[in-house]
Amino acid sequence: MTARIIDGKVIAAELRARVASEVARVRRDHRLTPGLAVVLVGNDPASEVYVRSKHKQTQAAGMASFEHVLPADVALDDLMALIGELNRDPGVHGILVQLPLPKSLHTETIINAIDPAKDVDGLHPNNAGRLAAGFAAPSPCTPLGCILLAKSVHASLEGMNAIVIGRSNLVGRPLLQLLLNENATVTIAHSRSRELKELCARADLVYAAVGKPEMVRGDWIKPGATVIDVGINLNVAGAITPVPGGVGQMTVACLLVNTLRAACAIHGLPKPGV
Ligand code: NAP
Repeated sequence: MTARIIDGKVIAAELRARVASEVARVRRDHRLTPGLAVVLVGNDPASEVYVRSKHKQTQAAGMASFEHVLPADVALDDLMALIGELNRDPGVHGILVQLPLPKSLHTETIINAIDPAKDVDGLHPNNAGRLAAGFAAPSPCTPLGCILLAKSVHASLEGMNAIVIGRSNLVGRPLLQLLLNENATVTIAHSRSRELKELCARADLVYAAVGKPEMVRGDWIKPGATVIDVGINLNVAGAITPVPGGVGQMTVACLLVNTLRAACAIHGLPKPGV
């Protein structure tokens, strides 16, 4: 069976175009230009690439993009002062602190300092708690992209057996909540889980958020199941995300969605049509 490729590149481009059209409408009708501030601490090469890409795509969508690059040895007070300024800046509707931060900085302290209304990564504990409680909250970008990719194959995820392998705050846990919101039946697995092969074999939807390529084997997957990850190469899957161009592109597109939504919410405008 030949797996259908889920083309995250194309799906992300369509989403960005819808965001751009809604941004144009909001600018025209409400004189509001959504603004995203990205804070990069240090010079991790992968993070620099992500931040450049976010900057480019934010501008291409018609939004304002503010980049703040700080040295790896920045004082905690200086970083907190910058976040305070961005919280108060009326031109900034979304704030993203690029992770991972240098080890000298406590990630939770920094994330907690972001105004939850501008937390477009959905990582502030207020927002993570709201999502877990089933209330409206910004969806973390990578998990939101993962849901949209599955919905590009399945009109509805209702009643599907989904497994999420990985339980990080960034990917696995919020993805579990988003799948529940879609009425999927969800199993969440991690490094201590037993019988992962058997758990995967029952799943219609497999999300590998593990950070280890090829950990999930082809013969674990039910024929026709949808597999979403980077680094898996299977031939029994019904649909699969390729590497690169699956989840990564969707993450950035979802960041634009969250920034537009945050700008509208802050200004008391109806939720945009994207
Ligand atoms: P993470 O914080 O390292 O978490 C990895 C998770 O995998 C943990 O929950 C861990 O379990 C679990 N795990 C590790 N080995 C396992 C095993 N042998 N069997 C079952 N579970 C195992 O990683 P993350 O931040 O969630 O990221 C996950 C992956 O997504 C990474 O590859 C990352 O690069 C990718 N990612 C991509 C994007 C994007 O935009 N494309 C964005 C974010 C992340 P324990 O909790 O028990 O340790």
